[in-house]
Amino acid sequence: MTTIFHKIIRRELPADIVYEDDHLIAFRDIAPQAPVHVLFVPKVDVATLNDLQASQAEVVGRLALAAAAYAKKEGLAEDGYRIVMNCNGDGGQTVFQIHLHLLAGAPLGRFGT
Ligand code: ADP
Repeated sequence: MTTIFHKIIRRELPADIVYEDDHLIAFRDIAPQAPVHVLFVPKVDVATLNDLQASQAEVVGRLALAAAAYAKKEGLAEDGYRIVMNCNGDGGQTVFQIHLHLLAGAPLGRFGT
């Protein structure tokens, strides 16, 4: 599978990478929706949350743990933050490799319709 995020993982596109390990990469969103907006992307191919298998529960678990660790490291944990995963059209997903948004750095508005 090739998305913009796969190209970032392969270093074919530049990104402001803030964390990487064997399982995932994290980089700043190019169009931030909050003072801190970082995307956590697994290295295994999963197009949408609908495609996640039960055997892959650790894929999303690792994204959440990495986001929480980043928030703690950056001093954001106590004030708080939001994590979001968008799925398909109504969810607003535009890149079809699952990713977790970490939004922080200011009180965030309510969301939904
Ligand atoms: P949405 O675009 O509605 O937020 P997604 O949940 O699929 O949908 O999120 C894709 C995110 O990827 C967007 O926040 C977008 O700004 C970000 N993005 C797109 N291209 C890049 C890039 N080259 N580097 C960093 N972030 C990117």
